[in-house]
Amino acid sequence: MHPNPSQDPSPAGGGSPSGPPAPAPALPLGPVVAASAASATVGLGMPGFGLPQGFDAVQPPDAALAADCVHCGFCLPSCPTYVLWGEEMDSPRGRIDLIKGGLAGEGLDATAVRHLDQCLGCMACVTACPSGVQYDKLIEATRAQVERRATRPWRERLLRTLVYSLFPHPRRLRALRVPLRACQRSGLRTLAARAGLLRLLPARLRAMEALAPRLGPAPALPRRVPAMGTRRLTVGLLTGCVQGTFFPDVNAATTRVLAAEGCEVIVPRGQGCCGALSAHAGRSREAVRFAKAVIGAFETAGVDAIVVNAAGCGSQLKEYGHLLRDEGADWPRRAAELAAKVRDIAELLDEIGPVAPRHPLEVTVAYQDACHLAHAQGVRDQPRRLLRSVPGVQLRELPEAEICCGSAGTYNLLHPEPARELGERKARAVLATGAGLMVTANPGCWMQVATTLAGMGARMPVAHTVQVLDAAIRGVPVERLLADALDGPGTPLPAP
Ligand code: SF4
Ligand code: SF4
Repeated sequence: MHPNPSQDPSPAGGGSPSGPPAPAPALPLGPVVAASAASATVGLGMPGFGLPQGFDAVQPPDAALAADCVHCGFCLPSCPTYVLWGEEMDSPRGRIDLIKGGLAGEGLDATAVRHLDQCLGCMACVTACPSGVQYDKLIEATRAQVERRATRPWRERLLRTLVYSLFPHPRRLRALRVPLRACQRSGLRTLAARAGLLRLLPARLRAMEALAPRLGPAPALPRRVPAMGTRRLTVGLLTGCVQGTFFPDVNAATTRVLAAEGCEVIVPRGQGCCGALSAHAGRSREAVRFAKAVIGAFETAGVDAIVVNAAGCGSQLKEYGHLLRDEGADWPRRAAELAAKVRDIAELLDEIGPVAPRHPLEVTVAYQDACHLAHAQGVRDQPRRLLRSVPGVQLRELPEAEICCGSAGTYNLLHPEPARELGERKARAVLATGAGLMVTANPGCWMQVATTLAGMGARMPVAHTVQVLDAAIRGVPVERLLADALDGPGTPLPAP
């Protein structure tokens, strides 16, 4: 049996006898919102199934990695689900105990699977862990076992089929833009909202509809953008599924900034999805297929580096070596070679240093760390250095910056209630800075926090790091930057 929370020696927020006591979770921004994990999520499509015999032999979680956890509890205050519910089994070490049970051949019942499902995969525990536990690899392998072997209730299967038939497919997403934009521009969405039709949608479809940002034109990026002045590097740009469809302005700003900084930019056609959403959901075969297509598209591009401007995609590309480790032929080598070239846009710009002069932008900026940039890739200082390099920009730090905003890939679509609570928590943290602009580096965080802020009646401009740099390099007035970040493409529509 997996450990029973009621028998756990350490109370919520406490330590364990085997290590120093963990500090109580800091909750400076509001009370615990949900009384328990179960009350927050049961009835919202959480699974009613399990793995009776534990894990099988197909890429199970690595027992040695699980054994690295010494139960010290240092990760607890950084774990969003533990902070929300105070449940041991919704903490990293609780979940690792469940994984150890599965490895020992013990069954994982429906409750155990629910605790694993409720993990956001935010990797805050990886940052916080002094023992270097690679929880990211443990949870990904665990999810693959669950997805492959357990049968979810039909409603859950239907929703997941819808989500994974759409979001990792840029062509389908681009096709969806047409009716979506028409609805937005014609006022049909507003009419449907006023008539109460949107309220008739199931909770999770309502969550999906609410997240759709304002859509502007999306001109295709050129295949090649020459460097301005002396060419310093040739880089390939990963355009991303959600980024390319809903935030084409970010990709356009990325190519302009790279060109201004002396990089020739190649945009390979047919690059498809990087596989991040699939891998994080345990759909490992699908993720492998996507990864192979991306490798093929970039290998022939002849680039020095592959630049990514969406945190989740960047962290996935850097893990290709691990994802394709058991594939035949020379896939592991090809995957590792590609992964070694991958840089987040902030990482690359910081690495090569600026050559383009910056015009001043008098604005206070709340920089929101995307989990898959800060925790998964360790990229924290670079975006801050880049923003500070713009004269007039003043950075403000968010309280409890390490806690996820609740977006987490498709988490806010599959688990809207805890995602909403985390979104509100993050929105309050952003507002607490008193900044005039929120900056982030992930489309998921952007949609999640901006939509939550709008729903709370707080009109706050939101932009990507690279859009601030683009404005500074091109001499765009700060008023224009803020107006676009408030009401331009990518911003949330008014709450119905
Ligand atoms: S990945 Fe995030 S939600 Fe999951 S256990 Fe770690 S800190 Fe908690
Ligand atoms: S995951 Fe790391 S920080 Fe958390 S209890 Fe285990 S050893 Fe401690």
